[in-house]
Amino acid sequence: MSLDRPKTRIIATLGPASARKETIAALYRAGASVFRLNFSHGTHEQHKSVYDAIRAVEADVGRPIAVMADLQGPKLRVGTFKGTSARISYNSTFILDSDPTPGDENRVFLPHPEILEALAPGHRLLIDDGRLRLDVVSVSPGKAETKVVVPGIISDRKGVSLPDTVIKTTALTEKDHRDLAFALSLNVDWVALSFVQRPEDLDEARAIIGNQALLLAKIEKPSAISQIEAIIERSDGVMVARGDLGVELPPEDVPPLQKRIVRLSRLIGRPVVVATQMLESMTSAAVPTRAEASDVANAVYDGADAVMLSAETASGNHPVPAVMMMRRIIDKVEADPLWKTIVAIEEPYDGAIDVPEAIGRAAADIGTAVGADAIACFTTSGKTAIRVARVRPSVPILCLAPTMSVCRRTMMVYGVTAALSRDVTTFEDVVAQAIELATSIGAAESGGRVVITAGIPFGKLGSTNTLRVAVVA
Ligand code: PGA
Ligand code: MN
Repeated sequence: MSLDRPKTRIIATLGPASARKETIAALYRAGASVFRLNFSHGTHEQHKSVYDAIRAVEADVGRPIAVMADLQGPKLRVGTFKGTSARISYNSTFILDSDPTPGDENRVFLPHPEILEALAPGHRLLIDDGRLRLDVVSVSPGKAETKVVVPGIISDRKGVSLPDTVIKTTALTEKDHRDLAFALSLNVDWVALSFVQRPEDLDEARAIIGNQALLLAKIEKPSAISQIEAIIERSDGVMVARGDLGVELPPEDVPPLQKRIVRLSRLIGRPVVVATQMLESMTSAAVPTRAEASDVANAVYDGADAVMLSAETASGNHPVPAVMMMRRIIDKVEADPLWKTIVAIEEPYDGAIDVPEAIGRAAADIGTAVGADAIACFTTSGKTAIRVARVRPSVPILCLAPTMSVCRRTMMVYGVTAALSRDVTTFEDVVAQAIELATSIGAAESGGRVVITAGIPFGKLGSTNTLRVAVVA
């Protein structure tokens, strides 16, 4: 067992290019700590087989791995094509209709009757993260005729954004309900909710999920921005989903929003993910562009807990090299002395901080101040480890939790190494387990110090109230 993970986490989306157990094992070894199942694609059967393969890898490596189920949400997509794609040319006529048979260069199925109804002449349709643009020319029942304004290749189930069309949507579609029940039956660790528009959208999902998984809010709608703080507060984690966000908003609006959302998430104390197109060119090329390398580095400098790969690992030609490249970029930033200065956040003590929060901050402070080998958190929910992580100490953070599911969840959090705790009756047991874990992962050596947080009495949720600095014998 070793600490061999970048502190900033890598989330790898799995798909046809990475569904085999051997590939998943290679992605893990390359540095991925979280695997995403994208419910916009694939069947339940396929997701189950991928899920089982991840757990088999987890058993082999003997370290917890987080699995994230990403629900499609009210995302609009076209149907399929004969031969999986079609090239549509400039100024030609392209029809969206209610015929489910595979499309071609002249037409495609739009499996959303309510959209066909809501479209009107002049409305723009942006396809595949805005790569293609169609303008509606005329509409008739079950059919919209468009003119191709930005041509290109359109392929199976590509996303459609409608910046000009008002559509009524609920947070969870019928498909999401089915997918969520299935994902929970698999025992996933995180559920990502797409196209969150209002804080209440999260309540709808939370009511179903309960404590079975943590809930990640994907920020990809301009309408979410006006209530962003309330959305972050109601979530367990946040994703800056730049793909759809950058289609619905002009590209220049996305970088400042990324910085704002990452910062706010850290201040509020929620793990935050920066996602989409991070190493996009590696879906086909063996090396990224320098701009992409900068983009990954900048997300780490912003203080993201995790950076995510989508098509790069799900369907690209170089899934494992993409993770290796991402890891090299992260390692470089984390070794940069300037990074610590850049990533620091101002956190005034306002006299109203609760005890577990204060202990978490103090643990990070003391760990850094005394040059501790590790900060070990005995935590029932994983929250103390998340609290320590948000200050981004360079000291390894250990999460000792009584359940595997809490260990797995914290794999998405900056710098956390998690392991199962055993029942404790005395504080000496706590110290022994913390030192044992710190030593076994190579973090602590004889004479070193380990900062330990715990709650007394033991095993009570939200009871962190004790901090101790132990010396490794
Ligand atoms: P998606 O979400 O990959 O499910 O679309 C991420 C994004 O929109 O950036
Ligand atoms: Mn999206």
